[in-house]
Amino acid sequence: MSQNAAPVVPAKELSTPVHNPATGEVLYNVEHASVDEVTAAVARAEKAFESWSQESALKRGRVLFKYMELLDANREELAATLTREHGKTLPDARGEVQRGMEVVEFACGIPHLMKGEYSENVGTGVDCYSIRQPLGVVAGITPFNFPAMIPLWMFPIAVACGNTFILKPSEVDPGVSKILLRLFLEAGAPEGVLQVLNGGKTVVDALLHHPSIQSVSFVGSTPVAEYIHKTASANGKRVQALGGAKNHMVIMPDAPMDQAVEALMGAAYGSAGERCMAISVAVPVGQETADKLVLALKARIADIKIGNGTGKGVDMGPLISQKHLEKVRGYVDHGVTEGAKLVVDGRDFSAPDKKGFFMGCCLFDGVKPGMKIYEEEIFGPVLSVARVKDFNEAVDLINNHSFANGVAIFTSNGGVARQFAHQIKVGMVGINVPIPVPMAFHSFGGWKRSLFGAVHMHGMEGVRFYTRLKAITARWPEALKAEFTMPVAK
Ligand code: NAD
Repeated sequence: MSQNAAPVVPAKELSTPVHNPATGEVLYNVEHASVDEVTAAVARAEKAFESWSQESALKRGRVLFKYMELLDANREELAATLTREHGKTLPDARGEVQRGMEVVEFACGIPHLMKGEYSENVGTGVDCYSIRQPLGVVAGITPFNFPAMIPLWMFPIAVACGNTFILKPSEVDPGVSKILLRLFLEAGAPEGVLQVLNGGKTVVDALLHHPSIQSVSFVGSTPVAEYIHKTASANGKRVQALGGAKNHMVIMPDAPMDQAVEALMGAAYGSAGERCMAISVAVPVGQETADKLVLALKARIADIKIGNGTGKGVDMGPLISQKHLEKVRGYVDHGVTEGAKLVVDGRDFSAPDKKGFFMGCCLFDGVKPGMKIYEEEIFGPVLSVARVKDFNEAVDLINNHSFANGVAIFTSNGGVARQFAHQIKVGMVGINVPIPVPMAFHSFGGWKRSLFGAVHMHGMEGVRFYTRLKAITARWPEALKAEFTMPVAK
C-alpha cells in the first residue's frame, strides 16, 4: 500500500451536465465513476496486462494500424462531437483529430521504437544488452480543451509499449473519449487494455492513491498539475504533469507585419484562446513596430466572425462554460483597473439569440510585468501587447515569466532567430511559426511552471516514459569461478 493515505471520499460523487457551449443547452449528464468502480477498473487492467504485455510488439502495432484506419473512417463523427461539446469550429476540430491520429501513426512503429541496445564482448565471452519493458497499469488525466488530441498523445504509445491504460478525460466534454474507446475495441484490442472512467477529483484521487497504478500522465491547469505531481510522486509513481501557459510572440522590426498580424490573429483568438499554446502576449520590439501592430490588429479583429463552430466561415466559437466566460471577463475588468489600455473590448459580445457562452476578442496595450493579466493564464480571447525597446529586453521579459510552455519570434534575420532559440528559457520555440506544437515523432512539453516532472509527452520521450529499461549482462561460460573483486572488462 502507498504511504500516503487516500482521502476519504463519497462512494459515488455525482453526475454532471455536459453542455453545448454554442447554445448553452444541456446535452446529457455524465455519470461519475465511484471509488469502487475505479478499483474494479484497475483490477481489469491488471488482468489484461498479463496477456497484452506478452503479445509481440508487432501484434500490438497491428492493432494500432487497424485503429488508425478506424479513426480515419470516423474522423467526422469525432470532429462533430468535439465541436458540439467543446465549441471550437469544425475545421479546428478536424485539425485536432488529425494531430491526435498522427500519434497513433507514430505508435504503429513500436517494434522499431522499443528496440534496445547490444554490446558484444564487453568482457571476454560476456555480452551486455538493454531492453525496454512496459510498466503495467498506467493512467492519463486530460483537460477539456483538446478532448481528442491529448488522450491520443498518451494511450496509443502507452498501450503500444505493452501497458494497459485508464483514461480519465475531462468531465466537461467526455463524448470524444467514448468514441475513442469504442473504435479501439473495434480495432481488436482486448477488453481492459484501454478503459475510460468519467468523473472529477474523486476519480483522480482514487487513481493517484491506487498502489497498482505505475505512472500518471496529466495535462491541465498548473495548480492541478502541481498537485498531481506531488501526490503521485509521494505514492511512488512515475509522473509527467503538463500545466498552464502564457505564451509570448516577439515581433522584430524586420518581420513582415502582415504575416505577423495574421499569425497573431489565429494564435491568439483561434479556439477562443483556449489553447495551452495560444499566444496571449505580443511583444513588439520598438515603438514604431508596436504602433503599427496595434493598429493592424485592431482593424483585423473587426473582421473576425464569431458564432457556432458548425457555422460556415466562423473563425471563433464560444468559451467552454458560463463560469469560464465570467472568469475571463473578470480578468479583462481587472486589466482595465490595473491600468492597461483596452484597445478592443469584446466583453459584451453575444450571439443574436443571446444563447451560448460567447465573448468577443479583447486587445490590451501597455501591459506590464506585475499586472495580473500579464502574470496569470487567462485562457480566453484576450491578447496583451507588452512593448519592449530591444531584443534583449524581449528575451529578459520572457525568461522572467513563471510559465514557459511555448514562444515564437517573427523576424527575417536568421542570426537573430538562432540567438533567440538558443537564449530563450521555454520548452517549445517557433521561428516565424506562431504555434510550434511539435509533430508526433518529436515531443511536447514546457519548462518551469508549465511542466512538473522531467519527461515530455509523445515521440521518443513517450516511449521512454511508458517503459523501464533493463540492462542484462550475460556469459555462457564453460566453467565459472567465483570472483571477489569488482568485475571489470578483461
Ligand atoms: P483542469 O486542471 O481544471 O482539469 C484537468 C483535469 O484534471 C480534468 O480531467 C479534471 O477533471 C481534473 N481535475 C480538475 N481539478 C482537479 C483537482 N482539484 N484534483 C484532481 N483532478 C482535478 O484543466 P482544464 O480547465 O480542463 O484545462 C485547461 C488547462 O489545461 C489550462 O490551464 C491549459 O493551459 C492547460 N493545458 C495545458 C496543456 C499543456 O500541454 N501544457 C495542454 C492543454 C491544456
